[in-house]
Amino acid sequence: MSYKAIIANKDRKAEVIDKELRPLESGEALLNMECCGVCHTDMHVKNADYGDKAGVTLGHEGIGIVEAVAEDVTSLKVGDRASVAWFFEGCGTCEYCTSGRETLCRTVKNAGYTVDGGMAEKTIVTADYAVKVPDNLPSPAASSITCAGVTTYKAIKVSNIQPGQWLLISGLGGLGNLALQYAKKVFNAKVIAVDINDRQLEFAKEHGADLTINPLHENVGEVVQGATGGAHAAVVTAVAKSAFNDAVDAVRAGARVVAVGLPTDAMDLSIPRLVLDGIEVIGSLVGTREDLREAFQFGAEGLVVPKCQMRPMEDINDIFQEMEDGSIQGRMVIELNK
Ligand code: NAD
Ligand code: ZN
Ligand code: ZN
Repeated sequence: MSYKAIIANKDRKAEVIDKELRPLESGEALLNMECCGVCHTDMHVKNADYGDKAGVTLGHEGIGIVEAVAEDVTSLKVGDRASVAWFFEGCGTCEYCTSGRETLCRTVKNAGYTVDGGMAEKTIVTADYAVKVPDNLPSPAASSITCAGVTTYKAIKVSNIQPGQWLLISGLGGLGNLALQYAKKVFNAKVIAVDINDRQLEFAKEHGADLTINPLHENVGEVVQGATGGAHAAVVTAVAKSAFNDAVDAVRAGARVVAVGLPTDAMDLSIPRLVLDGIEVIGSLVGTREDLREAFQFGAEGLVVPKCQMRPMEDINDIFQEMEDGSIQGRMVIELNK
């Protein structure tokens, strides 16, 4: 049986092709996919930013209904709704997998990168790793939470922000607009939103950003230090080196700068600033299965409402172009099996 899938091709373009469905192996489940959000990471993969992945099915914000399970599977049953996340499978036994840091597993599998992902009519998942979606969370919203939501929810946890403190969020795109919602509604922080695109800043204001700054017109460090005495922490989702440097300039002594965006550059970091002001710079990679369950739950409770627009599979290259042009607000979500 064949099914349609979106792959990255040799010319660094996305392409809709037919793939043959293989039989399920031990521990696996087959999902009939409903939808899959388009993350900026899919564009990095398509562009071969982290190596040539031509042929792999893209997508790690996938939501589908279980159509079949291998005989030995007990964690999912036919009819369940489950997610296809970047953290697709860990080994389950290494130092990372057994210490709450499973996304760092050295033999990890990543959907839409090392294994076929969710932008397809059918996806085979490792059942124990495919987190179930709560009943009262619609699939498009769940798709955004599967990467953008859980990644930013986890990054804010990592930032150690406390209620009432100032959190700087740099980049208010697919990830950043959810970072803003988790920061305001779940962590009760005050948010400084930074983006080079005024439309994203407008959107941020509507969602409760306390201060907005466009680095093209204002000096982020000066404005934030003047208005707040320095942010208590920063989460950087922007795909630009300058955003990381700006975040370091904008935080107060003892703050954490959490790196989430993945530009291919190196950031500048003044060693005296790092040492004398005790600045911590730390990377944060998606979230564990438990983080995803929590992130879904806040969505199901209506605290976080992803802004999604449904699009057909054939629009994928247009969507990547729109992402590059900065014209997307929230997330574009591919509708599957329509
Ligand atoms: P997006 O394109 O939707 O959003 C990026 C935003 O950054 C845009 O609003 C853009 O205007 C803004 N921006 C660009 N330059 C800026 C600057 N100098 N200062 C402030 N803002 C700036 O992308 P996305 O889907 O939100 O993904 C963002 C990044 O996060 C990508 O690099 C993606 O690969 C990465 N990512 C990382 C993880 C992780 O686990 N760490 C998970 C998912 C995505
Ligand atoms: Zn992603
Ligand atoms: Zn492991």
